[in-house]
Amino acid sequence: MSQIINVNLDQSYNINISYNDLSDLSNFLKNSSFVKRLFIISDTNVCRLHLKTLLNYIEKSNFSYSIYCFEPGEKSKSKEVLFDIYDFLIESKADRKTPLVAFGGGVVGDVASFAASTFMRGMPLIHIPTTVVSQTDSSIGGKTAINHPKGKNLIGTFYQPNAVFIDTKFLDTLSDEVFFDAFSEIIKYGIIMDRQLFSFIEEHIGDILKRDNKAIQKLVYDCAKDKSLIVQKDEKEANLRAILNFGHTLGHAIEAFFEYKKYTHPQAVSIGEVFAARLSYKLGLIGEQTFIRIKNLLEKFHLPTKIDNIDPSLLIEIMQRDKKAKGGILEFILTKGIGEVIIANDVKHSLLIETIRELQ
Ligand code: NAD
Repeated sequence: MSQIINVNLDQSYNINISYNDLSDLSNFLKNSSFVKRLFIISDTNVCRLHLKTLLNYIEKSNFSYSIYCFEPGEKSKSKEVLFDIYDFLIESKADRKTPLVAFGGGVVGDVASFAASTFMRGMPLIHIPTTVVSQTDSSIGGKTAINHPKGKNLIGTFYQPNAVFIDTKFLDTLSDEVFFDAFSEIIKYGIIMDRQLFSFIEEHIGDILKRDNKAIQKLVYDCAKDKSLIVQKDEKEANLRAILNFGHTLGHAIEAFFEYKKYTHPQAVSIGEVFAARLSYKLGLIGEQTFIRIKNLLEKFHLPTKIDNIDPSLLIEIMQRDKKAKGGILEFILTKGIGEVIIANDVKHSLLIETIRELQ
């Protein structure tokens, strides 16, 4: 039995969550008015591991398909891969009624959905995410992106899919590192809006570390629900959606400082979350116990919570140059308690320096 979350926007769509079963996809295609053809975009890892499973379900719906797989990894969120996708679509005589299927992690989702949003001014889009990050976050909400040499995700659009199909069985083939890194973002949902989710992770830590499917399925459902609630209230990040950046202001600066080599994005976010929680504690918004709960939970997933001895003012300079800093003014998402946040843009420079030093 699958679980369904409706994302209620101008273009509403369902997120279908299941285990080892994509029959909702077959039924969706059978009942759709699309031309009976699909363009599947994926990366070579996902194609090698899971394409056969996907094709079984597509064949049941009597759709034909063409497939384009690119090299895995962040470097593929590039104009070169984007134009390779356009070439593939043109050569395959794609039109505006034929859906593009983004089948893979966040990288595939971001670049494929950007292609779908721009090719012939927009073609239908179906997300079939296969990583924890893409199932709990990136496939929901309609942000598309490629990177520019001067910065990550600098070029993109907002473009909602027609449907999202999540099968948590795909997660079985992820390495522990990729699987558990994603928990900095899952824990984030708990801190910013979902106290029960945070407590569930604390109470079921044993099952989660064993990757028990029931526990994972619940987490994927809760995160997808939380993200869709935020997106429904603020589709284009005018205000509320910014709370998803908890831990990201310093996290992005750490990633950039180490030239995207030392820490993965979720690892850098983990340090950023400890920083935001510590700042919240020092400002009297939370007690020490809450700060310790947040730090301890991240550490249970072997996520980093400290940084090397680097000059804090260098990190502050990078934060001020970030695309999300408004005219150089730093905005921090802080917590008032598990499940509640506030936005602060008047934190004293000296307090920022002191708090970053305490992470070392
Ligand atoms: P990813 O897409 O690079 O996938 C990680 C690795 O896992 C890749 O090597 C991939 O080939 C492999 N993989 C994918 N599915 C697999 C499976 N089932 N089994 C085994 N291996 C598998 O990384 P990610 O963490 O999924 O996504 C990160 C990207 O998502 C970043 O580019 C980030 O900017 C973006 N993102 C976007 C949003 C958004 O709202 N659009 C939100 C969060 C993150």
